Amino acid sequence: MNISLLLDTCGMFPLRQDRSSWSWRKILLIRPLIRNFIVCHIGDGKLGSAWFDDWPPLGPLNSLISTRDINRAGCNSKSTVSDIIENRMFKWPPDWLSKYPNLQLINAYVFTNEEDIYGWKKDDAVVFGFSVKNAWDSFRPRSAKVPWFSVVWYSQGIPKHSFLLWLVMGERLKMQDKLISWDIRDGSTPLCAFCKQCADSHAHLFFSYSYSANVWRMVQQMMILDIRSNDWHGVVDCVTPLASRNLAHVLVSKLCLAATIYDLWLERNNRIFKKVFRTEKQVFDAIFSNVRLQLMTIQFKSSSNVTRIREIWKLEDV
Ligand SMILES: [Zn+2]
Repeated sequence: MNISLLLDTCGMFPLRQDRSSWSWRKILLIRPLIRNFIVCHIGDGKLGSAWFDDWPPLGPLNSLISTRDINRAGCNSKSTVSDIIENRMFKWPPDWLSKYPNLQLINAYVFTNEEDIYGWKKDDAVVFGFSVKNAWDSFRPRSAKVPWFSVVWYSQGIPKHSFLLWLVMGERLKMQDKLISWDIRDGSTPLCAFCKQCADSHAHLFFSYSYSANVWRMVQQMMILDIRSNDWHGVVDCVTPLASRNLAHVLVSKLCLAATIYDLWLERNNRIFKKVFRTEKQVFDAIFSNVRLQLMTIQFKSSSNVTRIREIWKLEDV
């Protein structure tokens, strides 16, 4: 997607695409939103719309001047900036300056030989060279940063593990509600796929049930960071204060936590949907393998902790 495509969606240029498609109708609905972010940098004035583009410091002139007055002045909706400026003077009627006093704040442009170009407002700057990333960053909803942000999101993380951990942090995994229709007893309470005795829940799976607790205990032995808790909130509270620090043993702990969550969730789903079972040691081996492969891609600075990590995770042979 480039800026001309976006401008198409703003209705500034004729659309090359088929407007009748469902997807284009949906995209066109965002025109009022993205219009506020598009500015026109005037060069020769032959492309920018005199009335609808955001080129004057006051914003688009159509928000200031009525359509009736524009038509009375002999202009129309297709007028460009070069149509309304001549010899560094605006060509609009003199009475507009009393009717619309803010027009006196606009200086007439000195045209150049360059084409007008469109940019995207981002924070207090204008970006020329459109990217979807910048656009999304400009208008996406933002909330306050959660304290555990760095536990979940960091550049060395495994994306599918981070995503699942993010869901777990918000207790968003579909446990009770999703499986209720598949309940093996009376249709009221889905049971844990491991013990089949209590309710399927986040706290039970991470890591209060003995199966999960045993896996977590084996994983804990591979970490230098001492997390002596099988309680989910206790684990998160232990990792969170250190999570943003760029320390090798903290990184290992975060990778281990996310990998353990991922593989326990995978094991739980395999038991329910595929009737496939692994032992605690097999789940641990999968976690070890995943974390080790990720650690092999990371360059660590030498330290005593890194030496221990290399030994524990058998990275010396790499
Ligand atoms: Zn259970």
